[in-house]
Amino acid sequence: MVDNTESESRQLLGRLREAMAGDVAGQARLDKITQLIADSMGTEVCSIYLFRDEETLELCATEGLNRESVHQTRLRVGEGLVGRVARTGKVINTPDAPGMRGFRYMPETGEERYTSFLGIPIQRLGEMTGVLVVQSKETRDYSSDAVYALEVVAMVIAEMTELGAFVGEGSAMSPLHQQSLLLKGTMAQEGAAEGHIWLHEPRVVVTNPIADDPHRELVRLEEAVEELRVGVDKMLEMASNDKEQAQVLETYRMFANSKGWMRRMEEDIARGLSAEAAVEKEQSLARGRMAQAQDAYLRERLSDLDDLSNRLLRILTGQGRDTGAEMPEDPILVARNIGPAELLEYDRKLKGIILEEGSVGSHAAIVARALAIPLVVRVGRITTEGLNGDHVLLDGDQGAVHLRPDDPVVSAFRDKIAMQAQAQERYTSIREKPAITKDDQRVNLMMNAGLMADLPSLQNSGAEGVGLFRTELQFLVRNKMPRRSELVVLYQRVLEAAKGKQVVFRTLDIGSDKVLPYMKPTDEPNPALGWRAIRVGLDKPGIMRMQLQALIRAANGGPLSVMFPFVAQFEEYRQARDEVDKTIEREKRLGHALPSELKVGAMLETPSLGFAPLKFFEEVDFLSIGGNDLKQFFFAADRENERVRQRYDTLNVSFLSFIEQIVERCEISGTPLSFCGEDAGRPIEAVCLAAMGIRTLSMRPASIGPVKSLLMRVELSKLRKIISDARHRGHQTVRPAVMEYLREV
Ligand code: PEP
Ligand code: MG
Repeated sequence: MVDNTESESRQLLGRLREAMAGDVAGQARLDKITQLIADSMGTEVCSIYLFRDEETLELCATEGLNRESVHQTRLRVGEGLVGRVARTGKVINTPDAPGMRGFRYMPETGEERYTSFLGIPIQRLGEMTGVLVVQSKETRDYSSDAVYALEVVAMVIAEMTELGAFVGEGSAMSPLHQQSLLLKGTMAQEGAAEGHIWLHEPRVVVTNPIADDPHRELVRLEEAVEELRVGVDKMLEMASNDKEQAQVLETYRMFANSKGWMRRMEEDIARGLSAEAAVEKEQSLARGRMAQAQDAYLRERLSDLDDLSNRLLRILTGQGRDTGAEMPEDPILVARNIGPAELLEYDRKLKGIILEEGSVGSHAAIVARALAIPLVVRVGRITTEGLNGDHVLLDGDQGAVHLRPDDPVVSAFRDKIAMQAQAQERYTSIREKPAITKDDQRVNLMMNAGLMADLPSLQNSGAEGVGLFRTELQFLVRNKMPRRSELVVLYQRVLEAAKGKQVVFRTLDIGSDKVLPYMKPTDEPNPALGWRAIRVGLDKPGIMRMQLQALIRAANGGPLSVMFPFVAQFEEYRQARDEVDKTIEREKRLGHALPSELKVGAMLETPSLGFAPLKFFEEVDFLSIGGNDLKQFFFAADRENERVRQRYDTLNVSFLSFIEQIVERCEISGTPLSFCGEDAGRPIEAVCLAAMGIRTLSMRPASIGPVKSLLMRVELSKLRKIISDARHRGHQTVRPAVMEYLREV
């Protein structure tokens, strides 16, 4: 039976290839294909529907249906049986099509005469291109072998469509990857950018899906798999010290040695596919399963298989990562996912970043934010739809991507960019001015930093210093623990760049979402509430001591400010301070210069610390409110969970009252207080925080201009009164009242 199908599908593919080889125009090719499929399958009808745009399928060729309906009949995705195949990516095989739910008949095609229906998705690597349909009058259930043969044919059609084989005069088909598309994702870093796509991993193009010598293809496949195995073994040897990488490679090895995987590819070759096409067919299946897998572990393994298939394809086609293409002048990086270190290698060359996966809280997002590069994550299909050099508009504010945009979109978008540039210019004019409100209140505006790439912003943003230096970023972008001497050099560079302005170094804040690649991961049910930040620092003081030493040495006799993250009770601060004192003693004994002035502070990120004894407020040198964490714990709403993240307003009266209470306690004890969460960089939130009495705000450098500009236009005493009145009236949030006032100013 299998032999029979093998030769049947091989014959069909052989004829298909002949049809493709001739120098015929696109439409003629499509017509020929439908003709020979109908002929080979012994059915009256064979039709090909291809996507016209994201939502619409168009009948592009048919044998058996009315010719006049070609390029006239259109369906929406999900409409009728054809639309359902397109939507679900699943085969429909029925002897009684008119009896099926959702059947929709199109009179112009004359298809009412046909009862049996077999619809096969035309897809390549999870990307849907169209639907292949065969129909006949007799009531007929197509055998699984027939389905298989047509699936193989559909895949080849997808491959050919990708290569533009059906484009040409008379076909009225615009080639794939040329239509304009609007893709939606999640905003991870604001900003608008226009540029051209640069693929982090260029896709492999298979130009020879059909082969006539299965024996030769089998040998090619075996040789390539052998090369792959040897390569994986070599990588494993090199990665023996890196447990996590070794684990991934072990999975690769398992797949590379998997008999099932090999067998399926061998079968596909026997049926007429080339070695490359066989690999791609397996890869398509894995992608399809990946899209549906609920289990994170399974998804990861399937993604490993995807990666391995890519490697195998590169061996078979000889197409390396370096395709010889030149990076465009205005590159917008497109990747499935990317690590922070890889992203840093591109440095500031990138205009924007679009990720198919990724998340707002990922390390790549942290790096993109630090580099102020607009970033949109979770943009489905971008790696399959986008080609190197494609024109693209990235709207980081809306989380939208316009791929190959039409002219009206481009001009509207350029207006938006121009307006943003104008606003930036306005901010430049106030860069050197202090932020003084209309009622003469002075607010200190500092910047958050963490990467060397942040340092130029110290001068050009107008920041009065660094209110939060996230030291863990330096640890996150490496693949091994940095040495103390490296840290000294690094911190020295930061202090030098600050030219005497204050820099507040926060000690390592790891755990929760920030997992160091070289530290043993701990399995915790609730990492955000788990072993993180100062809790790790106090339990494993080795790293904390090394970091404190490095900071003291970098200060080299100058002033030094250090703060500890996530302090939840007085005792934790005392212990940490004790470590500082001991380190100072040790450094003194070793003959190192001691800081001329040492300030040791704490971050207030859990509500508990707001209620600590007054003695704590007296002892601590300064406090900084980590609003991102504080808000998440105040409202019990995960800051990384898109569903609840924005559910509670920062201008909620309960939260503002809590802030007010912290301010009052700091006033009693004379403790300097700042706010360094993301809200400090949002102009409306920032002016309200200032109205509640916070006089130092630390934010992303790009936010300093907009925040200063608004501060200079408001009266804090008025704002404070508006907030108090709204609270008095029992409002849940003071935002509407505040907005009314801001509209006036
Ligand atoms: C915060 O929690 O507000 C904060 C500044 O720290 P991070 O965002 O690094 O947790
Ligand atoms: Mg925090």
